[in-house]
Amino acid sequence: MSLFDLAGRCALITGGNGGIGLGIAKGLAGAGAQVLIAGRDRAKNAAALAELIAGGGEAQAIEVDVTTEGFAEAMLAEAEARLGGIDILVNNAGISIAKRPEELTEADWRSVIDTNLTSVFLASKAAYPGFKARGGGKIINIGSMYSLFGAWYSAAYSASKGGVVQITKSLATAWAEDNIQVNAILPGWIDTAMTARIRARLEGFDKAIAQRTPAGRWGTPDDFAGTAVFLAGHASDFVTGAQIVVDGGYAVQGSV
Ligand code: NDP
Repeated sequence: MSLFDLAGRCALITGGNGGIGLGIAKGLAGAGAQVLIAGRDRAKNAAALAELIAGGGEAQAIEVDVTTEGFAEAMLAEAEARLGGIDILVNNAGISIAKRPEELTEADWRSVIDTNLTSVFLASKAAYPGFKARGGGKIINIGSMYSLFGAWYSAAYSASKGGVVQITKSLATAWAEDNIQVNAILPGWIDTAMTARIRARLEGFDKAIAQRTPAGRWGTPDDFAGTAVFLAGHASDFVTGAQIVVDGGYAVQGSV
């Protein structure tokens, strides 16, 4: 048994068409998995697919909006039709709405919770029968530093990402007997489209984050490939319900 070889395995990655999701897709494809990326934006899907295939990966893309009713069953049915089922589910799709709590609307709140948290439950539930039939599976949920911290601009986002950690633990305990491992990755500050907005808006933010991070830099999507391969392969068969922080030391920085 090879610990990190994913040849013959199939992975579905929500939001796999850019940022951290694409970094993970590249990592899994590089380890031999067939990957199916699921995003809303058709042009981004096509560009990501081209990048994955150019890198030597076996990849396909489907258009999915994880806030649409019935998306999870339809997405898993499409994965079944295209790949014969999946071994690895990466719940990565996410959004952030940065506002003070008193300015956050109910629609903002529901949009963040639906995208970041409810989708994790629905996609995992829809994947479960297939995992069970195949004798096991891996679920990798993407949390955040805001699974741990709060901030004036992150009431909905922190609630959703705290929830991601908690649902990870519950699914892990429920499905361990089915040989399904469920773990979370908590990224630090990563250079993607999501953070580009806040970096452009808040002067000095870019530099402040790099200075506060012991590694001295922002993370990149490629920083997630290794952890994802570990959590997707046999190397992590006795690891479940865990949170792996990938943040260059940001969360453990104690000095000022
Ligand atoms: P991006 O904005 O680059 O990526 C977000 C991804 O989510 C896109 O692929 C997007 O696809 C997809 N997505 C968003 N909404 C939906 C939806 N309704 N249905 C389907 N797909 C959707 O940001 P990141 O790569 O940074 O974010 C990826 C994950 O990492 C998120 O869960 C985020 O919360 C988390 N994270 C990011 C951090 C960072 O510093 N960047 C830090 C901590 C956590 P499309 O464009 O097609 O809609």
